[in-house]
Amino acid sequence: MISGANYIGTKLSKKGDKQFNTFNPKLNIPTEWTFQEANEEEINDAASLAKTAFTIYREFSGKRKATFLRAIAEEIENLGDELIQVYTQESGLPEGRAIGERGRTMGQLRAFAALLEEGSWVEASIDPAQPNRQPMPKVDLRKMLCPVGPIVVFGSSNFPLAFSTAGGDTASAFASGCPVIVKSHPMHAGTGELVASAIIKAAAKTEMPNGVFSNLNSSGIEVGQHLVTHPAVKGVGFTGSIKGGTALYRLANERPDPIPVFAEMGSVNPIVVFPSALTEKGDEWAKQYAGSIMLGAGQFCTNPGLILGIKSTSLDGFIATLGAEIGTLEPICMLHPNIHSNYEKAKQELSAQTSVDTVADYNTVVAPNMAQQRVLTVNGTNFLKNTKLHQEVFGPFSIIVRCSDASEMEAILAKLEGQLTGTVLGNENELKKYKTIVDTLQDKVGRIIFNGVPTGVEVCPSMQHGGPFPAATDSRFTSVGTGAIRRWVRPVSFQNWPNEWLPEALQNKNPLGITRVVDGSHTSNAL
Ligand code: NAP
Repeated sequence: MISGANYIGTKLSKKGDKQFNTFNPKLNIPTEWTFQEANEEEINDAASLAKTAFTIYREFSGKRKATFLRAIAEEIENLGDELIQVYTQESGLPEGRAIGERGRTMGQLRAFAALLEEGSWVEASIDPAQPNRQPMPKVDLRKMLCPVGPIVVFGSSNFPLAFSTAGGDTASAFASGCPVIVKSHPMHAGTGELVASAIIKAAAKTEMPNGVFSNLNSSGIEVGQHLVTHPAVKGVGFTGSIKGGTALYRLANERPDPIPVFAEMGSVNPIVVFPSALTEKGDEWAKQYAGSIMLGAGQFCTNPGLILGIKSTSLDGFIATLGAEIGTLEPICMLHPNIHSNYEKAKQELSAQTSVDTVADYNTVVAPNMAQQRVLTVNGTNFLKNTKLHQEVFGPFSIIVRCSDASEMEAILAKLEGQLTGTVLGNENELKKYKTIVDTLQDKVGRIIFNGVPTGVEVCPSMQHGGPFPAATDSRFTSVGTGAIRRWVRPVSFQNWPNEWLPEALQNKNPLGITRVVDGSHTSNAL
């Protein structure tokens, strides 16, 4: 049952006077669910509860926190069909996607639980004292990663489950030992409330402190701004637009005590097509790319928005096949009228640039909020000159650039901003032949793909989802995979600290049995 209230810790609360409804983009009408935006008092209460909860939660063992994460996954599953129905109504996304994303969300929670149960993620490092060292004795130093404090997570519009209320940001923050306050995404506040209820139930079952989690509704930027500037908040996770992410990043840096904002933002995910890919498998790649551009109505941060090839008859063939293929695919409903109108506006703006040709366009009249795909082409010189063409169009849209030669291709890559992914289509000889192009691409991206499509982000320890600005605000971190935990921790050194008062991870006997670096060598032995 959706109440429309905020969760301030365990309490449902409706103190504010601003209300909003979510929207069903397929029916093009508001949903039946009305939500109460959090007011200042509720924001302050959530932050102060989180601050107190932190002092208790941070002390819990990894195994105890893991039971909480596993219980959340179980409670999400227990929400059953209601969650799937609310998700599909609020997002316009199909049931299969909802079920898949729910599985991914539970999988992420369980992956972090397993990480905690194993325990070595804290990177314990011990340099024992050398009292007899000459000319000076050496002190005992032991270091490990410790949680930073309450984290604000902004639910993202394009992943109502996997990057929202109990998504990767929340799961990684809980795993690190940090309480979470979610700023629910206004487009799927009902989905958010259901998942929030699952977290609250799991917290009660596993005896977590009140305030370890709160969920706040909002339909404007004020609640998010207030949270990011609140003194109790120590970090922020965000997925969304460059405009939104950079605004929050600036706000956090203007605080008297700046805090990190890990924002994952825009990307055109360049694809570099070397000649062999076109001569050997041009049609196959064209068809695969038509599908990748259309996937989820292009509402993925890894959508292939820019394809670079060297002009040739085989590139012309690739463009023709891609255009013909994408033209046959049915448009898909977008998440919300605002995202749809942003898409239409950006698509028209780029299509109106000089020297740009349309390769494929879906012109048939469609129902409201359906994304009509478009693919453009332009030559390398004009692309280089016009940086408007470099911007992300969030939706089923891509630009194919006909570069005059390999050096123009390299010049284009050098001019691009940071990206989440970069892809090379070709063979291994071409990796050698065009090494400077490949190196230039690698410098721009967080993940570099050989002979594949960028859509589809595996959740595993080796995934890097993030890249140089503006793909993300800090390219050293990932928002997908268990490595995401590192965003919410900081190293602390304990000098000459009494053994029994050290965290277990650093104690002589190694009671957790974790792998540590002792005197520079990896070992799980006791000291
Ligand atoms: P958004 O505009 O970036 O908003 C994301 C969240 O941040 C929302 O909850 C929004 O709050 C909040 N927000 C935005 N600007 C803010 C500010 N200045 N201060 C405080 N809070 C702020 O993204 P969206 O609504 O999900 O979608 C809009 C566009 O973002 C899309 O059309 C697309 O271009 C882009 N997008 C990109 C990705 C990606 O992965 N690259 C993913 C999703 C969206 P309110 O909604 O309550 O105002």
